[in-house]
Parts: sequence; C-alpha cells; structure tokens
Amino acid sequence: MLQEYLKAFSSLRTDRGRHRYPAVTNYRAPHKPFLLLSIMDLISQGLIDKNFIEPSFDLVDTWNIYYATIMPPGSTTSMAYPFSRLKSDGFWRRIPRPGYDAETEYNIKSMNRIRKVYFGAKLDEELFQFLCNPETRELLRLALIQTYFAKPVQSLLLEQGKVNIEAYQYSRQLMEKAGEKGGNWAAPDEPQKNKVRDQGFRKAIVTIYEHRCAICGIRMLTPDGHTVVEAAHVRPWNQSHDDRPTNGMALCRLCHWSFDEGLMSVGKEYEVLVSRRVQVERNLPGHILTLRDRAIFTPMDEGLRPDQENLQWHRRSCFKI
Ligand SMILES: [Zn+2]
Repeated sequence: MLQEYLKAFSSLRTDRGRHRYPAVTNYRAPHKPFLLLSIMDLISQGLIDKNFIEPSFDLVDTWNIYYATIMPPGSTTSMAYPFSRLKSDGFWRRIPRPGYDAETEYNIKSMNRIRKVYFGAKLDEELFQFLCNPETRELLRLALIQTYFAKPVQSLLLEQGKVNIEAYQYSRQLMEKAGEKGGNWAAPDEPQKNKVRDQGFRKAIVTIYEHRCAICGIRMLTPDGHTVVEAAHVRPWNQSHDDRPTNGMALCRLCHWSFDEGLMSVGKEYEVLVSRRVQVERNLPGHILTLRDRAIFTPMDEGLRPDQENLQWHRRSCFKI
C-alpha cells in the first residue's frame, strides 16, 4: 500500500506553465507539495497527533517558510489554494462546517474563507499512519521533493525540513530555560545552526507575545499568517548569545528599528522610554510620542518577561537619552 501512496504523491494534479512557475519547481505549482511537507513536519513535531488537519497558524507558518525558501521574493500566494484543491488527489477529505457544502465550495482563494467553510481535513487513515512512521514519512517526503523540484533546490528543501523540526525543538527548549536566570546558559555558537536558532527564537517570542508588539501594543496578523511583529533581542545575539525569552520581545517593525537605534527603550518599571532625539530636525515621530511612560505589554507569565539586567544593558549601552 505504501507503493500506492508513493505513486499518488508522485502524480499530484498540479497546475503547470513555463510562464507561471519557475524552473526550480519544474514549471509546476509547488503549493500541494509544500502543504504535504508542512503536514509531515507538524506530525513529526507532535503538533498534529491525530488524523485531522486544521488550517492552523503553525501549518500556514510552515507552509510560508517552504514557499519563501525557493520561490522568488515578492511572489505572494496562499495556502488556501492547496488546502481546498488537494481533494482532487483522492486521499484528502475536507470536513465542512454545518451549512457548507465542500463540493460547491471548491475553489477557495483565501484562508479566511477556508476557516469559515471547513473545520479542517482528513487524510486516508492508512496514509496518515505512513506519515506518522518516521521511515515511511521520509520516503514520501523524498518522493515529493524529487518529483516537483529541480535538483539544485532538492537539498535545500530537505535541509529546511530538518531546520523546521530542530527549530521547533529549540523554541520548546527556550521556553523551558526561561526560568533559569543568570549568564550560565548560552545557545551553541555554531554558524551552521543559525537558521535553527533564528527560526526557533522567533517562534518562541512570537508565540509568547501572541503576535503583539511589546512597546506599542499593535497586533496585526493576516489570515495567511503574516505577522507585523518580529522577534527582537534586548541584548544583541552577537554579544549575549542569549536566546532565552528573558532576552527577547516581540516588536513591530517600527518599534524594533527604534529600539535597535536607541530611540526607544524600556525602564525599570517596564515603562516605555522615548528618546528626545526622535523630535530633532525634520522628524515627525507621530504616535511614538504618545507611548512615553506607558506600560509595555508583557507576557502573562512573569517568568517570561524581559529580564531587568538585559534591559539595563540596553538603557546604558544603546538608549540615547
Ligand atoms: Zn510597535
């Protein structure tokens, strides 16, 4: 039976076109293979532990990471396309919400609509078991990568699968380490692990802050999983080697830039500090001035708040009064 699914994975119904898709995807749409690869990664992380695939943020986020790995920058698309269309390959059954008919709602283009129409989807039970088994899962992964992607990017995608799993483990480890104060802990300084570190740190911080900017409080998350916040280090990684949540904050792009430039910081009472320099010359700092002295948004769990030692470093070494 594995042979049957290897065959099905090698003959997915995908859109083709030399003008629509690049050579790295063999001029075929990579959406369905990316969705199946993302499902495999979530299964191996334990985030999918039963045969029910929800259109969750974790799934969309992983799908976006695969997409960005090899597709040209600036090309945008949505996981909504494969989520509804995988049905045509025989092993994917969508579960509609009451009042919706999966058959008439076939060509869905937005994740908003997907979540409105479907609870999720189920795989053939037998296929799901093959995906839960590490050996057969890797055979199915190879079938996808070798069929839909050109040689030069195959190793990149295999590598990305490993990074996804290690980054997830790393983010869990960071959460566990959060309570341990002091300078005894440092992440391994191995350049080849930078991708794992970056991705794991981002995942931990963005999750802890629930996509909300610690300084200005803004939260904007698109249905396709694009978020306005980034994971920022309080003491930069290159000198602290500290990825624990106590050395991080989720910040929107404007606040991240202002924090790194020393135009904003966080005080002893977790209040926002705004440098006088934001008002020099022709600057128009706008709403940034209204943030002065306001409490920052911190995680519910106090043990995950930025450590005052790290904030003190930022106030002394980076903040421009
Ligand atoms: Zn902000």
